[in-house]
Amino acid sequence: MQTMRAVLLTEPGRFELAEIPVPRPGAGEAVVAVDACGVCGSDVHLVDGSTVAAEYPVVLGHEAAGTVAALGPDTTGIEVGTRVAVLPYVGCGRCGRCWTRQPQACAERKVLGVDMPGAQADRLVVPTGCLVPLPDTVPAEIGAILTDAVATPFHAIRRSHVVPGETAVVFGLGGLGMHAVQILAGVLGCEVIAVDPRPQARERAAALGAKLTLDAGRQVARTVVAETRGGADVAFEFVGHPEIVGTALRCLRPQGTCVVVGISPDRLALGMRQETLVSRELRLVGSFGCTAAELAELVDLVATGRLDLTGSVSDVYAPGQFAAALAETRDKRAGSVRVVVSYR
Ligand SMILES: [Zn+2]
Ligand SMILES: [Zn+2]
Repeated sequence: MQTMRAVLLTEPGRFELAEIPVPRPGAGEAVVAVDACGVCGSDVHLVDGSTVAAEYPVVLGHEAAGTVAALGPDTTGIEVGTRVAVLPYVGCGRCGRCWTRQPQACAERKVLGVDMPGAQADRLVVPTGCLVPLPDTVPAEIGAILTDAVATPFHAIRRSHVVPGETAVVFGLGGLGMHAVQILAGVLGCEVIAVDPRPQARERAAALGAKLTLDAGRQVARTVVAETRGGADVAFEFVGHPEIVGTALRCLRPQGTCVVVGISPDRLALGMRQETLVSRELRLVGSFGCTAAELAELVDLVATGRLDLTGSVSDVYAPGQFAAALAETRDKRAGSVRVVVSYR
């Protein structure tokens, strides 16, 4: 039996680099030889046990790029040898969200490396609908982080309906928030106000085009409303803290939109009169993951040089160094946007 390396989460708090059987593809599925897989804050939550996997053991990893190595029976639509970025969401294939190619919003959605075997491994099996071709000019490390660290904020920006030239506030300058700043300022030409308590993260956001950066705190909403003369058009919450959602809403102009991306099990605490939400016609929107079409758009933005992600991968680790890669992600060293594990 053929085996492969895989980072296996055996139970909350315990992971190991194991040799496990190479998975076999079913109909409509492909085997991807993983070239690179990013490490995400949600991997930290899984290892810590604050997020629970569908079952244990589970192969970690949901930010992958690689090369199609084999196809399942009766599988068409992609060729063996194609370099790909892998959409980390698999839907039921039957519901309205899946019909409109939004598996990330399917009620039965599975996430790679959480609800099904993930991509911190030499090989990965996914439905071919998850595969987005990657041109040779886009390195595997960049292709990998596109699938979540870049695509998740891109989807959130789409869900905000923000248009070029409008004003956006971004709360939380980790991997996702920093890429939101870069896309909003650099691709859409929005005026961006970036909020984070870490001075180094604020410096990086300013270098990526944020017009104004603010330390987190009580005064943020008042400052934003003053600076924007009445409130921002949109605000994004990437922190995962219920109180910041309330602050983000208070930053908005009438009919402004707050998009929440940060995940928290705690209850919302908007700290706002219900009549304020009504009379200002505010919108509060959740956003999760991205679609394959958005991932393909991002690949195109990078391939054509309109989005420069060369500063986004701070370190590349070997599979045996997963603990170090996880520690760097957990510490959220300011400036370390994303770390990637290479399987080549
Ligand atoms: Zn993630
Ligand atoms: Zn579905």
